[in-house]
Amino acid sequence: MPAQGIKLTPKHYAYLKISEGCNHRCTFCIIPSMRGDLVSRPVGDVLREARTLFEAGVKELLVVSQDTSAYGVDVKFRSGFFDGRPVKTRMVELCEQLAKLAEPHGAWVRLHYVPVSARRRTAALSCPAAPCCRTSTCRCSTRTPTCSGA
Ligand code: SF4
Repeated sequence: MPAQGIKLTPKHYAYLKISEGCNHRCTFCIIPSMRGDLVSRPVGDVLREARTLFEAGVKELLVVSQDTSAYGVDVKFRSGFFDGRPVKTRMVELCEQLAKLAEPHGAWVRLHYVPVSARRRTAALSCPAAPCCRTSTCRCSTRTPTCSGA
């Protein structure tokens, strides 16, 4: 069996599951009753799988879960380890590490199932100088006078 496992997708893209379940209870949705509450995969395991996929030729990595923005909430964003270094089980750190892994392979990473509010928070956290989400309705704690729409 190849190192990246058996893939059912074409060689150039792959799905990377980072968690299972969901803590929300949208009235129309059966997923929480089928899959239960959010359970995040260890960040080290996720990053090792991503590296293996990139090394196998994947050019587009599709990050999936029921609620991608909630990654790590269930484990209180605890630190895991990747290549001997601590990495928080949190979306921002996961994105930073995936970007580093993708870059040498000319690959890109696409996040699925991220609510707009979480995208704004992530942008703000990863960009200390703003302009983060560029909207006047921004509620993030890192908002500064230089933010657009201030
Ligand atoms: S999986 Fe999506 S739609 Fe279903 S309860 Fe969670 S957030 Fe709501």
